[in-house]
Amino acid sequence: MGRAKLNEQEWETFLGLADRLEIDLRGLLKRDVRFHDLEAAGHALGRAVGQATTERLALGHAERLSEPQPCPTCAELCPLIYRDRTLETLDGPIEHHEPVCHCSACRRDFFPSASSVGT
Ligand SMILES: [Zn+2]
Repeated sequence: MGRAKLNEQEWETFLGLADRLEIDLRGLLKRDVRFHDLEAAGHALGRAVGQATTERLALGHAERLSEPQPCPTCAELCPLIYRDRTLETLDGPIEHHEPVCHCSACRRDFFPSASSVGT
């Protein structure tokens, strides 16, 4: 993974995102602070970007599933529903819109994987 050098437009995007997340990057630019404070703010913004990215990627994968899915035990096609739950990630908690199927024959829930779609 390469190290990103931000252009001015990207930096403005980061500043705007930090404003929304109440991470005071603009204030840090104007005050005398320790390097640790700069690093902590950068890390907080990075974690927030990581959480948002993971959440959107997981949503994209979840939405690839829409059809009934075969039960891994009996192969019966089972209706797909979505449940929202909080997942802990490396960057902190995210809200996950998780696809779930219930097999009435086996009386069990299973979690179909979008990565298996089309394989
Ligand atoms: Zn089954």
